[in-house]
Amino acid sequence: MKDDPKPEKIRCDACPVMCYIADGKSGACDRYANHGGELVRLDPLTIIQSGQDLVPFMGEGASDDWDGDILKGTRQFVTAVGAGTTYPDYKPAPFIASQQVEGVDMVTVVTEGIFSYCGVKVKIDTDRHIGHERDVVRVEGEPIGHVMTSEYGSKMLSLGGVEHLTGGSKKEGRVTCDALLRLCNREAVTMAIGDGDHVRDVVVQAGQPPIINGVTESLMRVGCGSATIGMFPKQWIGHVDDVVVVDDHITGVLSEHETGKQLDVPPTGIRIKGRRSTPGRYFQVAEPGTGWGGTDIEDPLEILGPFKPNVAWEGLRLFMVSTTGEQFAYYELDAALIPQKKEVPANLAASAALIAENCEPSVCSVLFMGGAGGSLRAGVTENPVRLTKSVKDALTHVSCGGAEAYVWPGGGITVMVDVLDMPTNSFGYVPTPALVAPIEFTLRVSDYAALGGHVDHMKQVSDINAEAARRVAPNPKAGDPMDLGNYRWKATRG
Ligand code: SF4
Repeated sequence: MKDDPKPEKIRCDACPVMCYIADGKSGACDRYANHGGELVRLDPLTIIQSGQDLVPFMGEGASDDWDGDILKGTRQFVTAVGAGTTYPDYKPAPFIASQQVEGVDMVTVVTEGIFSYCGVKVKIDTDRHIGHERDVVRVEGEPIGHVMTSEYGSKMLSLGGVEHLTGGSKKEGRVTCDALLRLCNREAVTMAIGDGDHVRDVVVQAGQPPIINGVTESLMRVGCGSATIGMFPKQWIGHVDDVVVVDDHITGVLSEHETGKQLDVPPTGIRIKGRRSTPGRYFQVAEPGTGWGGTDIEDPLEILGPFKPNVAWEGLRLFMVSTTGEQFAYYELDAALIPQKKEVPANLAASAALIAENCEPSVCSVLFMGGAGGSLRAGVTENPVRLTKSVKDALTHVSCGGAEAYVWPGGGITVMVDVLDMPTNSFGYVPTPALVAPIEFTLRVSDYAALGGHVDHMKQVSDINAEAARRVAPNPKAGDPMDLGNYRWKATRG
């Protein structure tokens, strides 16, 4: 008996890898498969639609004060999540979906972009030291990014980018791509930051508190030490003679601070180690670390020098507190002007609790950043630079998975978007390596025609075969990609 002929492999042309895929198998990225000789995109197309029984957009933590009517009535927005990619780029985008919005013919060009130039910016709300600026961030021993400038109460990481994806070893590119993919899809990624004896383990997950050296962070500081002095003096005056708010960046001292001067707090003869900036504000009182106020100290007395004997007095009351109110201690000077630890009076403990109450929860934010300034634009129009100009002119609105994207000024279409605003599992990858991210361009049909768009490939939204689509509820935090207020012509027309 003759063997059945071997089923033919088909070629996926959705990215430069150009996999040959046997029947029943998927390609290298697991996004496409051969189903009986037909190339199919495995993840369902995602459509945003208001109504009942829809998959929550944001997963856990979804807002429950939203009435689900941002996309009016039964209007649907076809996102690029699961839409597929076209390659090479001159081919029209997978979906060019038109519909009327408030009497205006609108069109959305929908594609999953292959982003070789992409990365994530991570904001970690914590005072704790996670690494010095420019320290290397590693995953599985491979460099995937670095620590960048700290922001107010937060540490920042810049991860990914074309240098790590393509400029290092093959493993570096693969590990970087995998870490970016997991971060963008809201999974936890464990990183090692720094070198030698200065390595911190940090677990980052979008929307979750960071875990630093095995300890889950809970609070973001209320402000720097100086700001804290300025915010809460009324809690202290009359109950204590001096207050020190310990902070890795700016430690505050009530009696020397302008706040204390205006509230008639007399000098106490306190001395602080570190570099004095302005009265009552000190830099570099200790090394950065995971102790009090993001310093490396566990005993706050380490930052004090001897009290001035001609100013200080026996019985002087001193309160020391961290910028999150999580650590605090109370002292009284003995006859030798040495601080002696005492039980914390209830009203001072209450002031620390008030500081803590005013701290926001510590959370990791992950923003995807990618450049659609190159070839991706050709899937939208035969004259790509016109799309860029149209975006800059606020004639074209850019969204990622339906979530409003910030478009950087200057050349190209470089976008940044909060992954928590996007539907779950919005991201994929191809092994070139590069991330696959959804991107949609929405504009008037007349503007689309004017910029040389692929109008012959337009389809009414209702004619798009979306039987197997995943339908998700609108996310009120993500903006409405169909809101005519997004466009300059609406703003001028009123
Ligand atoms: S890696 Fe994925 S998208 Fe690229 S050719 Fe293979 S199956 Fe297609």
